[in-house]
Formats: sequence, structure tokens, C-alpha cells
Amino acid sequence: MSVNTIKKAKKLVQSGGVVKIEDDLFQIKSSSNPDHSYFVTSNTCECLGFKNFYKFHHGKGLKANCSHLEALRIFKQEHQP
Ligand SMILES: [Zn+2]
Repeated sequence: MSVNTIKKAKKLVQSGGVVKIEDDLFQIKSSSNPDHSYFVTSNTCECLGFKNFYKFHHGKGLKANCSHLEALRIFKQEHQP
């Protein structure tokens, strides 16, 4: 996980870019285009970075991540009772 990804993720959470839709469905704004957003669950994201991760690291047993999944992780931590 790069520092840049975490920075982006924190910014998304702080700017209200994470919106809960259902129990495990969130809408998260794109950090490069605020008019665009992705539907994200706790382990999948629609964005290209997430899809490319599996293309590049397929079969290495790594879990894909992107700034949106990271933002969701931070969002959940902050909203825990
Ligand atoms: Zn993503």
C-alpha cells in the first residue's frame, strides 16, 4: 500500500466522499474526478486500479486494494460505535 493511496483515501473520507448505501455497499467518489463515483463493497471496487491489480498480480495470492477500498476501511474505523 503506497503512502499516496492512503493520503488519497483519507482525503476522500474527510471530504465526505464516502456514502453508505446499504450494509455492505458504499458509494465512493473518484479522487481524480469528483463528478464520478464508484460502488464499493468491503472487498471489491469498480475502479480501474482495482481491476488492474488482479491483471498484474494474478495468482500471487495478494488482495487487491485501491484508494476507495482504503477509504472505506478508514470510514468504517471512524464510524465504529
Ligand atoms: Zn477503487
